[in-house]
Amino acid sequence: MSTPPRGETARLVPDAAPRPRPGALLIPPYVAGRSAAPGAVRPIKLSSNECALGASPKAVAAAHAASGDLHRYPDSSAAALRAAIAAANGLPAEQIVCGDGSDELLHLLVQGYAGPGDEVVYSEHGFVVYPMVTLAVGATPVKAPEKACRVDVDAMLATVTPRTRIVFVANPNSTGTYLPASEVDRLRRGLAPDVLLVLDAAYAEYVEAPDYDAGIAQVRANAGTVMTRTFSKAFGLAGVRLGWAFCPPAIAEVLNRLRAPFNVTLPAQVAGVAALDDKEFLASVCAHNAHWRPWLERQLREAGLDPVPSVANFVLTRFPGGETQASAANAHLTARGVLVREMKAYGLGDCLRITVGREDELGALVGGLRDFLGRPA
Ligand SMILES: *Cc1c(COP(=O)(O)O)cnc(C)c1O
Repeated sequence: MSTPPRGETARLVPDAAPRPRPGALLIPPYVAGRSAAPGAVRPIKLSSNECALGASPKAVAAAHAASGDLHRYPDSSAAALRAAIAAANGLPAEQIVCGDGSDELLHLLVQGYAGPGDEVVYSEHGFVVYPMVTLAVGATPVKAPEKACRVDVDAMLATVTPRTRIVFVANPNSTGTYLPASEVDRLRRGLAPDVLLVLDAAYAEYVEAPDYDAGIAQVRANAGTVMTRTFSKAFGLAGVRLGWAFCPPAIAEVLNRLRAPFNVTLPAQVAGVAALDDKEFLASVCAHNAHWRPWLERQLREAGLDPVPSVANFVLTRFPGGETQASAANAHLTARGVLVREMKAYGLGDCLRITVGREDELGALVGGLRDFLGRPA
């Protein structure tokens, strides 16, 4: 990852043209979950871990109602939204910073705390955005190996050097596994106090394990730990782009200085407040997931595949025939209008990742896989 391919540099930077800062051309282009399938009128999209049940009708109504005020700037401090997040989670509103998706908050954290010469550590199959935001500021991304698709605290600590400024942990991980609170605590204790630990809890709402903590207790106990959350997953608001971070006061101050003054749109702010108010919707989303995720895992095992146990709203499954079989299965599903996530960008080419969708969508997925594997139900 140290230099971009020569041809690529020549194509992107013609002679006597402005040169981007070092690192910019090293960022691999982000490949989003596909949303269109050739020939399929309405593809079944199980590729981006979006909410199976859509968005809260109250949030949709609030966004609609805001459409009369689209000529107005939104509240720069997102005060009502931060107050609602604070109330829902029992947190001080001053320590909450909202962002244009949690992706923006990840960008702001590296902008604030890392630069050229610094290292940023993340786990092998962690979120692909971590190396992207790291390269964007000219810092160096460093991968720590995982064990069985799970963050390995010892490997992570062994990867840290005196140059490490930030450690990113997706918890739950992009593989669906999670670290119990005791392991997160062990990681924090093993890091120097001036290393920033970012706990990315994008899927926290789905986790039922009693030994899980999204990071609130860690942030309260430690001046160098931040938790990020999103409205894109369980709240079903991926399209408005809304995330938040719970930070120690000094870090909240830095993020507030770095962010654009109007980084959270008006529809996002009002939809967020309404979504937090609709507790029944969130409960139905979590109940749906608690029923259908184990069902999906069972179906995958019965079809001869090897799913990684998940606590989130998706299942990563390994194909015994490796990358060739995973790619062929992906092509077979795509031809039937079923879109799942290829995982090559995560170093998991022999796997596909499937969102826990609606019952009919999962039925089509399982039918397609059984058909591909020659194991009709
Ligand atoms: C989906 C996801 C996010 C959320 O990103 P947004 O910018 O808030 O939509 C963050 N981290 C992980 C690991 C994710 O999977």
